[in-house]
Amino acid sequence: MKIIMLGAPGAGKGTQAKRIADKWKIPHISTGDIFRANIKNGTELGMEAKKYMDQGALVPDELTVKILLDRVAAKDCENGYVLDGFPRTIPQAEVLDKALSEMGDSIDYAINVDVPDDSIINRMSGRRACVSCGATYHIEFAPTKTEGICDRCGKELILRDDDKPETVKKRLMVYHEQTQPLIDYYAGKNILKSVDGTKDMKEVFKDIQAILEA
Ligand code: ADP
Ligand code: ADP
Ligand code: ZN
Repeated sequence: MKIIMLGAPGAGKGTQAKRIADKWKIPHISTGDIFRANIKNGTELGMEAKKYMDQGALVPDELTVKILLDRVAAKDCENGYVLDGFPRTIPQAEVLDKALSEMGDSIDYAINVDVPDDSIINRMSGRRACVSCGATYHIEFAPTKTEGICDRCGKELILRDDDKPETVKKRLMVYHEQTQPLIDYYAGKNILKSVDGTKDMKEVFKDIQAILEA
């Protein structure tokens, strides 16, 4: 099963993608996580991506598409995957569709996690991330057992630089301009499913499960 998660920054794409990946035993692929791992390891790709990420802008399509296509060509993606944070522009979606259709394949579902802008700023300032293992928490809605420490791997959590309110506002603008048009794009392909992302995380997952099991 091949799934795309759509939604504003902070809508809960990553949270739900991880649950889908666990349940359906497919890899969770986050381009944001790939970029952050590269930044942490000081690679050339990481240094290039950081310039854009720190400003709340998108990393250029050429760079992003190449990384994603390499990743989905890996052996563990044979039975499908859940993409989180890709595609983020129409050209990215078109490249992915073309690559898949050349293999006689296509995306099965695009799940839009719908959350209005005013809820987003609040969510982002409470988000805490583990750069070591990719786990995500929230100080209020998904707290760790020990404050500031990852439940899964024991490393220290960070508040992402780009989760500060000024940058979040910029990212929301970028989302509306460049990513939101993907909702119509996938609706046109009859694979769009929307869920109410303002519900409790468990409820959102139940709604997604109902879609994927229908
Ligand atoms: P969030 O989950 O909060 O939406 P991500 O971790 O997906 O954030 O992305 C963080 C940043 O990484 C984005 O603001 C952007 O700069 C960059 N990025 C991630 N995925 C893409 C993509 N598909 N295209 C361009 N830039 C991307
Ligand atoms: P995205 O990947 O779309 O940027 P995340 O999954 O990282 O979003 O979620 C953003 C923040 O909001 C995280 O701190 C997460 O724990 C929290 N969160 C996710 N889903 C919900 C929800 N349904 N209700 C409240 N908080 C949530
Ligand atoms: Zn961790």
